[in-house]
Amino acid sequence: MASTDLKQIAPGVFVWQPGEGATWGLANCGLVVSGGQALVIDTPYTPALTDAFLAAARTAAGPGVALDRVAVTHANGDHTWGLQQLPGAEVFATHATLEHQCLEPKPQQLQALIHDSDPDRPLGWYFREHFGKFDFADIQVLPPTATFTGRRDLQVGRTPVELHEVGPAHTVGDLIAHLPEQRTVFAGDIVFAGDHPSHWAGPLKHVVRACLRILDLDPEWIVPGHGPLMRPDDLRTYISYLDDLSNQALVMHGQGRTAVEAARILIKEGRYRGLGLPERLAITLSTEFRHLDQDSAAPDLLELMNHAAHIAWDITAADPRTP
Ligand SMILES: [Zn+2]
Repeated sequence: MASTDLKQIAPGVFVWQPGEGATWGLANCGLVVSGGQALVIDTPYTPALTDAFLAAARTAAGPGVALDRVAVTHANGDHTWGLQQLPGAEVFATHATLEHQCLEPKPQQLQALIHDSDPDRPLGWYFREHFGKFDFADIQVLPPTATFTGRRDLQVGRTPVELHEVGPAHTVGDLIAHLPEQRTVFAGDIVFAGDHPSHWAGPLKHVVRACLRILDLDPEWIVPGHGPLMRPDDLRTYISYLDDLSNQALVMHGQGRTAVEAARILIKEGRYRGLGLPERLAITLSTEFRHLDQDSAAPDLLELMNHAAHIAWDITAADPRTP
């Protein structure tokens, strides 16, 4: 697994980018340093990854700067399960994220799925393929300690940081972190770069709305939850993709197709050929179809993963060179 140093993108603003594309779980993290203070933005998935990130962050922050404040963009484990490596830190998140956290799969459940599921069936194969490299066994999930609704402004030394609630979109509790002086937005999983997103809350128009709010902030840099850094034009391209997917969903829902059928059709057409993990279309389209059906029941996460796994299994069977 790639481990990496922090990249400085503006004075006192650093990004840790462990992912290499077509991956689950390797989320970008951020660090803001000014006047002897620091703010961490999101934590990695596992204690081992978090230790690598924090070692690089402490070097970047410099001696005597405590990493005692964290903003988490949403409740998914790949952004929050590293919190136990920062005991006692003040953790900022939306109130909706705090409420959502208890609905997320537990680390030990995920660990069991990876190791106890049948490796010769799509779900077991897929979990091993994408999550087998992570060790979730000893993770204790810590809740945010400072929650808010709407907006929360922080001061990190001389650097103002605005936390804006933009969910429900990717999850029910998303926030973005805006650094107006450095013209940088940490977008969390509102934005995925390089791979298809997996949006769990939706609908897609909420994700688009959150992206438009990011553009309104006039950033130079957008740090996606996963994948390479973006410029505003990259974000406009991503918005076009979301708009197109939303339109496709509406048409195929109207034709009486299921979300999984719709995903398979779009993949077969090669409609979004440049993006990795096309099987995630089954997840995002299932979310969109639930909204079109006005179905407010909680999604069955395992069923969604199973749909994605079957699609990936079939793609791999058709072309073994494509993982
Ligand atoms: Zn993520």
